[in-house]
Amino acid sequence: MPRANTLVDRSFRLVRRLALFALIALAAPLSAQQATPVAPPKFDKTGVNDSSIFAPFSYGAPSATHAASGAPGSRYWQNRADYDIKATLDTAAKSVSGEMTLRYTNNSPDTLTYLWLQTEQNAFRANSLNSYIFPQNSRFGARDFAGGYTISRVEQALAAGAGKTPRKSALTVRENETMLKVNLAEPLAPGKTATVEMTYKFPVPEHGADRMGRDGALYEIAQWYPRTAVYDDVHGWNIEPYLGQGEFYLEYGDFSLAVTVPAGYIVAATGALENAKEVLPAAQVARLAEAAKTDQVVRIITADELTSGAARPKKDGMLTWKFRAKNVRDAVWAASPEYQWDASSYKGSYAFAYYRPKAAALWSDAADMSRMSIQEYSERWFAYPWPHVSAIEGPISGMEYPMIAMEDQSRTKQELYNVVTHEIGHMWFPMIVGSNERVHMWQDEGFNTFINTFSEARRFPTDGDQMKRASQERQFIENLMRASRDEPIVVGPDRINPQFLGFQAYVKPSVGLQLLRQEILGPEAFDDAFRTYTARWAFKHPTPGDFFRTMEDAGGRRLDWFWREWFTENPHFDQAMDDVKINAKGDTSMVNVVYANRARGVLPIRARFTFSDGSTTDYQYPAEVWSTNTVRYARQYKFTGKKVTKIELDPDHRLVDTDRTNNVWNAPVAIVP
Ligand SMILES: [Zn+2]
Repeated sequence: MPRANTLVDRSFRLVRRLALFALIALAAPLSAQQATPVAPPKFDKTGVNDSSIFAPFSYGAPSATHAASGAPGSRYWQNRADYDIKATLDTAAKSVSGEMTLRYTNNSPDTLTYLWLQTEQNAFRANSLNSYIFPQNSRFGARDFAGGYTISRVEQALAAGAGKTPRKSALTVRENETMLKVNLAEPLAPGKTATVEMTYKFPVPEHGADRMGRDGALYEIAQWYPRTAVYDDVHGWNIEPYLGQGEFYLEYGDFSLAVTVPAGYIVAATGALENAKEVLPAAQVARLAEAAKTDQVVRIITADELTSGAARPKKDGMLTWKFRAKNVRDAVWAASPEYQWDASSYKGSYAFAYYRPKAAALWSDAADMSRMSIQEYSERWFAYPWPHVSAIEGPISGMEYPMIAMEDQSRTKQELYNVVTHEIGHMWFPMIVGSNERVHMWQDEGFNTFINTFSEARRFPTDGDQMKRASQERQFIENLMRASRDEPIVVGPDRINPQFLGFQAYVKPSVGLQLLRQEILGPEAFDDAFRTYTARWAFKHPTPGDFFRTMEDAGGRRLDWFWREWFTENPHFDQAMDDVKINAKGDTSMVNVVYANRARGVLPIRARFTFSDGSTTDYQYPAEVWSTNTVRYARQYKFTGKKVTKIELDPDHRLVDTDRTNNVWNAPVAIVP
């Protein structure tokens, strides 16, 4: 999902907000932080509770499933959900009907007597939780609409015992908003698979919380089949409802899709197209084969072919498009009679773009944008594992699903690329690394925002390199802190004010990773550890603790203080020049400097000394200098043949500092007679 309310836009919307925060910050009175700081006691009266920012951090206890190193434990398990879905789009009724067979495999050590499925179309019913929280005309609402699932059949296919015939047993279910409890016909033992069949139908909302919907003849279909909730070793069944902001937490499995639409429609979906020869004219099948061998863009369906009718093998009746996807946590599709279709490829994976002719001015680059995105993330972090990635134009402002990135038209190529590469970045977080988005939004949106800075800089280097983009993000967060509008990152997505979702779940964690990479671990150690995390948890379910532990274990540094200050608490940061004393003898001077830390948060020190001859020298100290006394740090320097005229903390704004007025010391000006 993109970070701004209607469109992702680093340069436009965020700058406007930045201006707002600057105003708020200016209006606020200067805090009492100017006063001489006193180190807080480390322990409370019981002498037990270490309140220091450097105190041991709680990662959650390690276990046989989540190891102390941050890797999956020796007895790590996760359940599996494989689906066969046959769906039909009724464009007259604007509805989808489906037949689903779910094969749910219990790899847990527990016997399960029921499953929980996510019936998220129910968020669009008249009196849903969603409808009370989000107005119909808001981004996460459903417009002028009363929808929801009608489920007409839930059966379990039971294996035949010796001498018995297979049979089907109707199952009892209980609906709870967007969750459906399915009581199994017989207990599901560890290692066994339950086969559940369902028949269902729902009307397609025009605006489905900006995650699915329709626009004229175009349909973007997601949250469209009862999806299995995750049963894990952390929460058991994850039954958090779908309210709008919080995204998804899903099991991996294989999907086969058979999507039946009017013959004039072109369908894009998660998975490889299995029956191209049945649904495409021969010329397009040949062009697809050509695109698989090139990094250039091949036009599979052109605007002219849409007009002439050559785009489709037949005009009337219905056609069924068949797709197959392996090891994905979801599958979605989109269909329109107006889709132009472009294709390029990178290392055996297609990069597709589907768009209507009215969007062609910008979108004719989208296949290449998609190709560059999977190349960037594959080269830097983890190889793209699936047969295609598709950027799909439509009414959704930006939404990610396995292999599928849904976006709207955008206003500039930079803006379009930012959205495309953001939604495609989600293929890594959370599609490959399957964290719990509904509870820990930062673990996918924040990580994705971080990797986006590299991708954006790669495509548009003249707009600034990766460091410049990271620096802009830091500036937003510094302003947010100055305005005291920041909250701890661990606050879950369904509790964040929608106005601040972009900062809280996207930019702030991204800035945290940037600080960790540039200022704390260094790029080499950070990248090694971050790749280790991605590889360890690919196609699995990591917790925040698994991330924290892996970054330490593979990065090589204890980071209790950083996890505490950047992720779980909400301290501010204010380094200051506390005191400078100079003893000069001849042309040699001894300079005693005391640096101060006037807020709870600690960061490394970066000090720049300017000398009488105009030269400068930079000094850097790690954040650990604050570990024995979190308020003052003294250093002595000796200079010969030059005098210090100025000392400035963080002159290049590489850190976060909520009060920069106390960052500079200037030597008293000598009065020359
Ligand atoms: Zn996103």
